[in-house]
Amino acid sequence: MVQYHGRGAEFARAVGDTLVAMEPKDSALSRRGVLTGGVALAAQGGALLAQTTTAQTKPVQSKPAAPGRKFRGWVSRGTGPGRTTLQDLTLRPISGRQVVVRTEATNLCYSNTTDVLGLPPPGVPPANKDAPPGPVSPAFLAMSRMALIQGHGGVGIVEAVGPEVRRVQVGDRVCVSGTPQCGSCYQCLRGRADMCQFLGRQGPNDLVPIADLRDGTPVYANSHIGGLAELMVTFEEWVVPVFTKASAADLGMVCSCVAVAGLGCTASQVLAAIETGSIVAVVGCGPLGLSAVQGARIAGASTIIAIDPIRVRREVALKVGATHVLDPNVEGDKLVEKVRELSNGPNNRLWAGGRDSGGLLGGAGADFVVEGVGADRARPKLEAGPDPTGILPLQQAYMMCSPGGHIVTTSLPTGNVTLPAVVFTIGGRTHHAGQCGGANPMRDIPRFVELLDKHQFDAKSLATTIVPIEGMLDAYQQVVDRTTVTALMTA
Ligand SMILES: [Zn+2]
Ligand SMILES: [Zn+2]
Repeated sequence: MVQYHGRGAEFARAVGDTLVAMEPKDSALSRRGVLTGGVALAAQGGALLAQTTTAQTKPVQSKPAAPGRKFRGWVSRGTGPGRTTLQDLTLRPISGRQVVVRTEATNLCYSNTTDVLGLPPPGVPPANKDAPPGPVSPAFLAMSRMALIQGHGGVGIVEAVGPEVRRVQVGDRVCVSGTPQCGSCYQCLRGRADMCQFLGRQGPNDLVPIADLRDGTPVYANSHIGGLAELMVTFEEWVVPVFTKASAADLGMVCSCVAVAGLGCTASQVLAAIETGSIVAVVGCGPLGLSAVQGARIAGASTIIAIDPIRVRREVALKVGATHVLDPNVEGDKLVEKVRELSNGPNNRLWAGGRDSGGLLGGAGADFVVEGVGADRARPKLEAGPDPTGILPLQQAYMMCSPGGHIVTTSLPTGNVTLPAVVFTIGGRTHHAGQCGGANPMRDIPRFVELLDKHQFDAKSLATTIVPIEGMLDAYQQVVDRTTVTALMTA
């Protein structure tokens, strides 16, 4: 039985012990064991357990962790700039379904800039910095008091596993996915692993201490991951084994939360499928949008319209698969109209099988729209977009979708969105709200790694800053300034 104390107790009760109780207690039964034991054994019911156990001369899943091991990690605590510092840490013992991963690379996600750099919390749009701060949740305050390793993803090598871990073994190369997948909950079983029950178990009362500071202060891993460190201590629900010789940076890029989201919404087909030859618009060409551009190309779109205010990002979009690029600052109020024009096609006559751009609901438009803009956490040093809250691009994304088309939203805007009610109710657009683009991590991340290995996914054009662990803060500043496409820390 797993033993947790303090903050971890509720987490273990709620999701951990349920699964543990379902598993055989005294065996070394693993998925690998089942496979190496032979398929024929599966037909023998009860014999499976005994024979598989016998076949394994030594249980591979009981490798102990190395408690007391020293490692470095960026620890955030308190508020304001300077809250994140590089610290010497001492690893705590692991148990149950915990997994220790030696970090090879971790991506510096824009959504984490607030916590890493001590910027004002979400809900305080930079354009309104003189306005009173928005409501800050008790959970946010509690988290800001904890010593927390930020970073919600990464790739690396499994160094140790708890005795109940089945999914990976020591030496495996893994993606520590920003989105967990237990494979057993209602959401996983209904095909929406992006909504796995474990995702909601990352609050201050769910986290377990994984290390100690020199003065004995317990240190926690953000999202049960804590990617900004030389070691990640996570749970098996978050790890996806990947079998590849790709470089740490390339693998870290394709396995990042943003690339998985961008490829997820275009190539996983969980939320909606891009039809071959169709027209796709991608609003926002950060690393997520640029991954979506690539996913749309791979899915066989004929026209890919990439929209971003930053010139360099539009250039990267053209390089990785966009057929057209638009600057929302140049197009202004005409942006939606421009996308409809580009979507008209050469046969926009009635009766000719064309796309009629007229009518109340707006005929032409993209068949499939990916929205990946979100709110600015700080004013960019390169070209700023037309709305720092991310709401205007969200409205535009909805309106540039053709009747009968699909829109997938992926970003973190602030505020409320207003849409023409009739278009919303009977306009034929289908909206999909997807966490990580709806990707099914255990199925899709290995596929995305294949796309990298087969040179269909260009990681290098997206990972434009790669730094060792000491350079993390400088690289994060580039991310929030938007002077780089995205950054990776290698450890
Ligand atoms: Zn992220
Ligand atoms: Zn699940």
